[in-house]
Amino acid sequence: MTTEPVAAEAGRDFIRDIVQADLSSNKHSRIVTRFPPEPNGYLHIGHAKSIALNFGIAQEFGGKCHLRFDDTNPTREEQEYIDSIQADVHWLGYDWGTDLYYASDYFDRLYDWAEGLIKAGHAYVDDQSQEEIRVSRGTLTEPGKNSPFRDRAVDENLDLFRRMKAGEFPNGARVLRARIDMASGNINLRDPVLYRILHAEHPRTGTKWSIYPSYDYAHGQSDAIEGITHSICTLEFEDHRPLYEWLLDKLPVPSKPRQYEFARLNLTYTLLSKRVLTQLVRDGHVSGWDDPRMPTIAGLKRRGVPPAAVREFVKRIGVAKANSVVDVGMLEFCIREHLNRTAQRRMAVLRPLKVVIENYPEGQTEELEAINHPDDPAAGTRKIAFGRELYIERDDFMENPPKKFFRLSPGNEVRLRYAYFVKCTGVIKNDAGDVVELRCTYDPATKGGNAPDGRKVKATMHWLSAKDSVPAEIRVYNQLFANPSPNASNFAADLNAESLEVLPDARIEPSVAADNSNEVMQFERQGYFVRDRDFAPGKPVFNRTIGLRDTFAKEVGGKG
Ligand code: ATP
Ligand code: MG
Repeated sequence: MTTEPVAAEAGRDFIRDIVQADLSSNKHSRIVTRFPPEPNGYLHIGHAKSIALNFGIAQEFGGKCHLRFDDTNPTREEQEYIDSIQADVHWLGYDWGTDLYYASDYFDRLYDWAEGLIKAGHAYVDDQSQEEIRVSRGTLTEPGKNSPFRDRAVDENLDLFRRMKAGEFPNGARVLRARIDMASGNINLRDPVLYRILHAEHPRTGTKWSIYPSYDYAHGQSDAIEGITHSICTLEFEDHRPLYEWLLDKLPVPSKPRQYEFARLNLTYTLLSKRVLTQLVRDGHVSGWDDPRMPTIAGLKRRGVPPAAVREFVKRIGVAKANSVVDVGMLEFCIREHLNRTAQRRMAVLRPLKVVIENYPEGQTEELEAINHPDDPAAGTRKIAFGRELYIERDDFMENPPKKFFRLSPGNEVRLRYAYFVKCTGVIKNDAGDVVELRCTYDPATKGGNAPDGRKVKATMHWLSAKDSVPAEIRVYNQLFANPSPNASNFAADLNAESLEVLPDARIEPSVAADNSNEVMQFERQGYFVRDRDFAPGKPVFNRTIGLRDTFAKEVGGKG
């Protein structure tokens, strides 16, 4: 695991090299790739890697990339997922144009081709149960056993397959299997299942079908029908490639795509499995698929992560042939780097402590000039109101400070950013002994934050006027998991109990509350924040996109 971002070689990787070679040798005149999600959940940052690879290659080499829904399992698929996937691909900055497809569009053709396989003796109907099939498939070291139905006559196979299609048999009663080799060293070639019986309504084909093709049968043939040149998938499909090729070889397909495999994205402190993400939502561990703690595209978006930062992250991690785990710190680095350049600065007090400036005239206010971006003069300035009553950050005061604490404490002088030097002269406590208010004095000669006599202070703090600031709810997020490598099979035990902190009494500049944009802002010294969709008139709500520094790994003592 590395924390420091490694610069990927200017967009080159082994897949792009293959594509380049295939164009140079005229094997293909135009590249066609595809992104093939199953609509059984929302997309996550791992999918973003695949999207950026497939759409990126199409863009860079003047080809095109299809969006194809791999909708072969109607029991788990929903329209909500189809819609969210399209929105998320667009949000990432990619477009499929008119090339939107569904594997279910090919069900008729796939069925006809399956009959063709039966007629040629390459497929048979097996009456064994799922369990019998599993057991007789053998292991990595032992060959499988032929099914007693393997040598059925072609006519009987055809008749049974047609009756499977007609809905005559219950779920699980029979399957159609390819007739390849039960002793093959590759288990995927031991007579894999091509069709199973499933009496389920499909979002697109309704009740037309009682049988549905397997992933292996549908996927390659869909690629071939669409003229995909490079079918790019993750490494776990490497062992499926011989089956992919066997099917293309036996069927009258219109083109012969090639499959290439790359390493899937794994991130520390993160689980990227749709099963786990679905469970997190269903069990209420998060507020939904777009909870800002989720590694989903929808969650990143709601958290305020700019799509360009996701694209930059994916570019930096590159495309490799060996699986590895990327430090989530690298994603955070890309987010901070982008936002540091683009986000305007504002002031907000997350956990307010009231301060009364005793020598500041009662009823008086004045406007001070604050800069919107330290590196971008074009971003301009804005006015912020100063007055007798202010809020500072509770953490910026200590009654009995340790030696290295330079912020506000009794008798100590600090700078209030853009305003004045102030000195703490008194502490007011409630009955429980908690500090509830500070008394300070200010030096009118230090307006703008510098002393004419040249005296220095060691701390500059943010603040807001009590009267001229607005209350807001701020939601501070941390990693969803406390364990750098959460256990996917018992993930609840690895959840971070402090992944969400709600600050209901925060204060923000009035202009921030009035701003209707969804731009991410830097709240000085605190991090980057964006308005949440729960934001309502009179009830501003903000999400913390990310803090200014990576403190999390230190807090949990993790970090490999
Ligand atoms: P699950 O998360 O349950 O394993 P899946 O992620 O494979 O499901 P699909 O909808 O089939 O879900 O994925 C669509 C595409 O995204 C596939 O081509 C898959 O290889 C790719 N993909 C999925 N997860 C990752 C990942 N972590 N890194 C890179 N690519 C991924
Ligand atoms: Mg999959």
